[in-house]
Amino acid sequence: MCKWPTLPHQQAEGTIGGMKSPPLKAMIIADTHILGWREGHWLDRIRREWMMEKSFQASMTIHNPQVVFMLGDLLDEGKWCSSKEFNFHVKRFKKMFKVPSGTDVYTVAGNHDIGFHYMISDYNRRRFDKAFSTSPVQMVHKDGVTFVLLNSMAMEGDGCNLCSQAINDLEDISWELKCAKGISEGKEMPAVCNGFNKFKYSQPILLQHFPMYRTSDANCTVPDAAPLDEKYIPFREKWDCLSQEASKQLFEWINPRLIISGHTHHGCYVLHNEFTPEWTVSSFSWRNKKNPSFLLAVITEKTLKLVSAIYQMNTQYFLYTSLDRNTEGFLSSSCKLRVKKVELRVIKVELRVKKVELRVKKVELRVTKSSCELRKSSCELRKSSCELQKSSCELQKSSCELRKSSCELRKSSCELRKSSCELRKSSCELQKVELRVRKVELRVTKVELRVKKVELRVTKILFTPNFQV
Ligand SMILES: [Zn+2]
Repeated sequence: MCKWPTLPHQQAEGTIGGMKSPPLKAMIIADTHILGWREGHWLDRIRREWMMEKSFQASMTIHNPQVVFMLGDLLDEGKWCSSKEFNFHVKRFKKMFKVPSGTDVYTVAGNHDIGFHYMISDYNRRRFDKAFSTSPVQMVHKDGVTFVLLNSMAMEGDGCNLCSQAINDLEDISWELKCAKGISEGKEMPAVCNGFNKFKYSQPILLQHFPMYRTSDANCTVPDAAPLDEKYIPFREKWDCLSQEASKQLFEWINPRLIISGHTHHGCYVLHNEFTPEWTVSSFSWRNKKNPSFLLAVITEKTLKLVSAIYQMNTQYFLYTSLDRNTEGFLSSSCKLRVKKVELRVIKVELRVKKVELRVKKVELRVTKSSCELRKSSCELRKSSCELQKSSCELQKSSCELRKSSCELRKSSCELRKSSCELRKSSCELQKVELRVRKVELRVTKVELRVKKVELRVTKILFTPNFQV
């Protein structure tokens, strides 16, 4: 059923000025992990974010909560972002998770937003707090219900600026709660109570990114709990959950009636000290969870009831749990959410060949010489004929001394011819040179495909309530 649970004793409570007031309706989501530019693929980013945006907006339309709580890790790479990148992702987040005017949004920081304790810088922390109007510790009163919101990374207990500020604020809040409780019970309260704001006491609900200390997810049995291969992995204090010490302090200072947390990406319902319930909300991103979920809480000053809405493909399943522990406990029902028509338009695709590599693998150079050889032979023959003529000259020399000079002249002419042959030979060498490029390899080593604009339009969404036990 696509609807809020009803409280069994709703009629008897929550009166403002004698008039019956409806309970507060709150939606709680965690670990949206909006992808940055370092991790993941752009196509995956478009798909996941489209699914998250449409599911969130559809859920907002169906459920119309008065208040939405975002339990950290809103961004995946907030801890690494430059300010330009951070502002870009914050803008995208606020567009995807836009709420109607009149709906309040409260946020707590997660380790992916500002880093785990060891890597938090004042700059990163303050820019997140400013962008989402939050602070390390906040107390919020809404329709008579009190919430305490906490930056989990401020509970390291090492006396750093962030931790000291958080501890001071928590001590103040602890006093404020004690004073309000004492006054509402008609007790005489110490003078310190006069310095605090007066409000009607309601046992607070603690909202934070890390779960309270637990050894693992082994005892989590809700339908969207961690898979078997992850369930028994021991939790590391300050990494997977708060430390034992910090959890103990929070129980003492806040004395919450319920704790709601995120961070593990899997659903879990546990009872601390056999009395105080904690619900860990699984990730709202399809990248982290096959069946993402969010929590709907109906709350009055004294009672509350939670519904975990779990998405499975086109169907939104609801897991009900009653935290006044006297009614139905866990009960599953479903609500079909069908997307009727999805239009995906790729507006501009740009293909850029970034690098072309041209490699000439083998060059063969052959100089063909046959004709030159022939010419050379002819030169040789002429040379021989010269020799013969020389011989004849020699023979004639004795008898024809007079002809000597003429022979000498002829010899010179032979020498000249020989030289001309040499020159022709050289010219032959130059005339016939064959250059063969035997193998040319062309490799395109880098091609960049950029999809510049993708337009995805959902033109019709149909919601069909369908009840199943
Ligand atoms: Zn986290």
